[in-house]
Amino acid sequence: MQEAMYYEKLSSKKVHCRLCPHHCMISDGQIGLCRVRKNIQGKLYTLNYGHLSGIAIDPIEKKPLNRFMPGSHILSVGSYGCNMKCLFCQNADIAREFKITNQYTEPRDVIQSALDHELPSIAYTYNEPTVYYEWMIATARLSKEKGLKNVMVSNGFIEKEPFEVLAPFIDAMNIDVKTYDDTKYQSICGGRLEPVLETIERALNHKIHVELTSLIVPGLNDELEKLDVFFKQLYERIGDLDIHISRYFPRYHYDEPATNIQLMLEIKERARKYFTQVYLGNVR
Ligand code: SF4
Repeated sequence: MQEAMYYEKLSSKKVHCRLCPHHCMISDGQIGLCRVRKNIQGKLYTLNYGHLSGIAIDPIEKKPLNRFMPGSHILSVGSYGCNMKCLFCQNADIAREFKITNQYTEPRDVIQSALDHELPSIAYTYNEPTVYYEWMIATARLSKEKGLKNVMVSNGFIEKEPFEVLAPFIDAMNIDVKTYDDTKYQSICGGRLEPVLETIERALNHKIHVELTSLIVPGLNDELEKLDVFFKQLYERIGDLDIHISRYFPRYHYDEPATNIQLMLEIKERARKYFTQVYLGNVR
């Protein structure tokens, strides 16, 4: 365990975590919404520091990033926990229902592994990397020193200050935009749209290469007229970014059938009115 960054101590051994927009107030002995930050006697600790749920070599297009170092491979790493709680979570075994292993991995070991395999980059992915912020920034700092690139695959739900400190070490991001409907963002995903849009803007201000992903989930974000309005608003606010329209499959607490492929094609066409590069994901 490592003491967490971005929190303040309050009276009665309570703490206030400021890493993400949830701003959890955590009593002694309790954990935050992400389930990996724990208050132990008035100090906040990160429970997942260096505890990896997965490490693998992927084509970078799998992140998905289609226009950042295309054709290259990347070392992907992930841990446990998430600061959203999507009912349709596609990775619930590491994001929501998990048991952290005791196996600890040092940042330098991951970097050495990337160098040994002659990989030019490392991806912080699989679960939401914001909730393993301390380990991610330690690794990203070191990896930059070794000439590697860093990629963050994220839901974008991170507070301004920690993001601004992290951003100089990040070269590319894929940011998941869950839905255009803020009420559903809150009720189905446990997040909010505006902080995610702000993270996209901040990343672009830092000249980070950004691509967006939208998992099309029946009943969450598949209304064509609303998508038209959203794509227009998104374009007007952030400009022409690459968009990945991804196919949902029933998982976790959501059992609607997988997204209809004809519908995905229709959504792709509508997105292309505003965005030059629109891709389908999770389809053959
Ligand atoms: S990072 Fe975790 S503990 Fe901190 S505010 Fe977000 S959900 Fe709460």
